[in-house]
Formats: sequence, C-alpha cells, structure tokens
Amino acid sequence: MGPIGVLCLQGDFREHLQTFEALGVETVRVRKPADLEGLKGLVIPGGESTVIDKLSSTFGLRDPIIELIGRGLPVFGTCAGLILLADRIVDGVATQKTFGGLDVTVQRNAFGSQLESFEADIRFEGIEEPVRAAFIRAPIVLETGPEVSVLATLNDGRVVAVRQGNVLGISFHPEVTGETAIHEYFAQMCKTVDFKSRN
Ligand code: GLN
Repeated sequence: MGPIGVLCLQGDFREHLQTFEALGVETVRVRKPADLEGLKGLVIPGGESTVIDKLSSTFGLRDPIIELIGRGLPVFGTCAGLILLADRIVDGVATQKTFGGLDVTVQRNAFGSQLESFEADIRFEGIEEPVRAAFIRAPIVLETGPEVSVLATLNDGRVVAVRQGNVLGISFHPEVTGETAIHEYFAQMCKTVDFKSRN
C-alpha cells in the first residue's frame, strides 16, 4: 500500500505531516500532479480555502484531485479542507470553487468574531475517548445529504464532522492539539476503503 499524501500548497500541512509521523504512517508532500501517483489517501489541510482553491488550479492539481475523489480515493479535510470537500458553501467568496465529494452545505467562518478560536473535547463516532479539537475561524456543516454520516457535533447539536464513503471532513484541527486519534481513524479508512490505484 502506498503513502498518504498531504496537500502542501498552503495552511497547516506541516502539522499533518508531523501527526502521521508520530503514528509511524508514511506520507508524501503533494505539490504537483505527479505527487498524486500511488497514494492510498489524501489530506486537505486547514488554512485558507480560497487560497488553496486558487493554488490547486494554478499547479494543475484541481482536476486530478476531483477525479481521484470520484474514483474513491480516501480523502480527509480539516477546516478549510472540509470547505474544499463540500459540494455547497455559504459565505464563500464569489469566485471560490470546491473539489466537492461531500453532499453537504458548509458555512465558512461560522463562529463569528467573538468565538473565532476555541478548543473543546468532543465525542467522535468510532473513537472511544473524546478528541481534543481546536476550532480556528471554523466552518460548520449546515445541511447533510442522505448518504452522509454525522460523526461529531458540538453540545448544541451543530455538526462538526461528517463522512460520506471515502470522504471525511471535519470543522476543526486535531493536528494542532497533539491529538492523533482522528489521523489514526483516517489511516484505518485508507486500509478499508476499496480504492484501486491505477499505478
Ligand atoms: N476560515 C478559513 C477558510 O475559509 C478556514 C480556517 C481554517 O482552516 N482554520 O478557509
């Protein structure tokens, strides 16, 4: 089985690389289309979704990533990464595009100015212990389609983690709190999801 790719265009990709390293999971930095060959999974990090969107087009990564998601490659987006995996966004900038893959509507910067950043311990479906989550100008999932499973909510019921088959998206950053359980969950997903690389 191949390594997990981390999209290294902008944002907190280093923290994702470090988290997988702590778990002993092999990674590859993805900056150009050839880096996508032979991956068993792909991470879209947090950062600024409008910038990652633009850079992925500039570097010719947008179309191959969309194709791989459609073919069933396991993909994991955190925060801006969740926005990029959503089929629909609210409060995006006019020209902003997404890769899609999750039949959800996501609202950008959903926590407003007073609560721009906070940490919380949240329950995550399929993980026994609560996970330590950092929310940084975080989005929220407003609507989910019938194929989407909700994996975590805040105490008030707002949805912050979803999965649809091969695509996992979360509003928050486990990779900045030293939390490794969700990366372990994704590494497991990469083993169990049926994806056949052509390479
Ligand atoms: N607000 C950012 C965006 O819209 C996401 C913030 C983050 O990834 N921490 O892309």
